[in-house]
Amino acid sequence: MAMRKRTLAASLTLCLLPLGAQMAPRAAPPGALSRLAGEIIVGGRAYNYDRELADGIGPRLTGSANYRRAVAWAVAQFRALGLSDVHREPWTIPDTWQPDGPATARLLAPHQQFLHLVSEGWSPSTPPGGVRGKVVYLADVRPAAVRAAAGAIAGAIVLVDEASLAPGFAAGQGALFDGIRRIGEEGARGLLFGLGVRNGASNMFGDTGFTGTVANLPAGNLGLEDTLLLKRLLARGEAPVVVFSFHNRIRPRVTVNNVVAEIPGRDRGAGYVLVAAHLDSWQAGTGAQDDGTGVASLLAIARAIQAAGLRPRRTIRFVLFGGEEEGLLGSRAYVRRHRAGLGRCAAVLITDNGGGAPSGWFTMHRAGEDRALAAIAPALDALGAGQTYGGHDFVFSADSAPFVAAGVPCFLLSAPMGPYLRIHHQPGDTFDKVNQRDLGISAAVVGVTTFALADMPARLPRLAPAAVAAQLKALGLLTQYDDMKAHGIF
Ligand SMILES: [Zn+2]
Repeated sequence: MAMRKRTLAASLTLCLLPLGAQMAPRAAPPGALSRLAGEIIVGGRAYNYDRELADGIGPRLTGSANYRRAVAWAVAQFRALGLSDVHREPWTIPDTWQPDGPATARLLAPHQQFLHLVSEGWSPSTPPGGVRGKVVYLADVRPAAVRAAAGAIAGAIVLVDEASLAPGFAAGQGALFDGIRRIGEEGARGLLFGLGVRNGASNMFGDTGFTGTVANLPAGNLGLEDTLLLKRLLARGEAPVVVFSFHNRIRPRVTVNNVVAEIPGRDRGAGYVLVAAHLDSWQAGTGAQDDGTGVASLLAIARAIQAAGLRPRRTIRFVLFGGEEEGLLGSRAYVRRHRAGLGRCAAVLITDNGGGAPSGWFTMHRAGEDRALAAIAPALDALGAGQTYGGHDFVFSADSAPFVAAGVPCFLLSAPMGPYLRIHHQPGDTFDKVNQRDLGISAAVVGVTTFALADMPARLPRLAPAAVAAQLKALGLLTQYDDMKAHGIF
């Protein structure tokens, strides 16, 4: 009786409400979210999954043997959890790359000294005997600045650092990589990146940018103290000369797989919510947090939803991308492959910010996304993750970018950047830094948000291209967006 009365009251209320209010997303049953959060934290095993991936499989350069093992492992895990339609989705990377032994580097003048260097990702091998030349510091890598310095660059080893890269980043990453390519085109013999990480713990940059092709000149990654030494010598007019050498294995045109698995929704006509992380990593560490914790979170969420017997309205599609580090190659391949059906994708959630306890989501303050999170605010607040954030360059440095550009509602997890950046792309990105409790909370935040979005009756509004541009302009991200479009990234 009570139920019938409530239904009647509800339908009367619906008739009286304006259309916008009728479409406002309603919260998933609070009991379901609490149960799911508990199931993920206590029984989700995110920490164990990350240990298996980081310690058991190791670094996962896109297209490498370890990457293929990680794909097979992830497929087996999803199948063991009883997910549906578990499959690989192939795409082709122009070149795979792998270091073949350690790099060496020496200062030859004004005195002899060993330097701390690793090969940059997707750098060609040095010629026999290494790359030898006088060092020239380039203060700005934007294409016009590189052209202006052409006379000094030809035949030299060019040193750039974070200060040199900053104006390029501000101009957009496509422009930045145009400038870096230009350094080779102007006849430099080699390129040294000094990225502010201490000697012996260099930070991978990946110097080809969104193409997955090998760079046009040998490029190394130099330790902080060595970078500062070279800059001091240059400032005193002491003309440093350096030689460096390494060998890399490069294979052209390799098939790489994304991994896809689903928990079917109750309403097959309601589309799907996509939750994603990237399976590839750099090789210096083991990618335990970039993005092992993201991958582990997805498995823990799948496990917990299955264990709790919960079925959301929409299908939840779990996707593990490859090629993120070489330029979001796997997520761009996904959007290309599924473009015609992207209208069925109700929302995208990305976790790629390490395993720290998150504070909330980057929503770019799109109204629909913020309203959807407000509907589950009690659960997110209880997990310490009730914040929403607007613009951040990171939006275009993660697999969120092609979905944001396509106007799909998008959520990017915001976790503490300080501890993450201390290990990001460095040898220190290993399992010992992962905190089990924080990772459990992180997975719970992603899981609760994913489930709630999948269960919401109303769909979030999608943005037409003009609206995407207008919103990114308001957030100060339009330059980056236009630059990436101009470079064919979207
Ligand atoms: Zn990442």
